[in-house]
Amino acid sequence: MFANIHRYVSKTSALEDIDTVMKAYKLYVEQIDSCGMEPILTLTRAWRLVKFMDNHMLSFTKCSKCGGHFVTVAYENSRYYECGLCAPPARAGKGAVAGGILLH
Ligand SMILES: [Zn+2]
Repeated sequence: MFANIHRYVSKTSALEDIDTVMKAYKLYVEQIDSCGMEPILTLTRAWRLVKFMDNHMLSFTKCSKCGGHFVTVAYENSRYYECGLCAPPARAGKGAVAGGILLH
């Protein structure tokens, strides 16, 4: 979800990197708050997520089955990507982030 907000903020504003992250993070925390939940993403982690995406180590990939957008490690055959919900790994551990982070 944070990544979606960040993408939105960076598209709609001409802020510097760090300002974009701060603004996106603030929106993220506000949204989480309004759901009565605790933010699971710290600012540090949010910053690292953005840096990873800048370096194309992580990217948005569309699941070929459910059509959901996920933040994933840059994936070669993104046309055939299936998210962790549609194609859970055989040995999925409890709480494992299988095929990516679902963006709400
Ligand atoms: Zn899917």
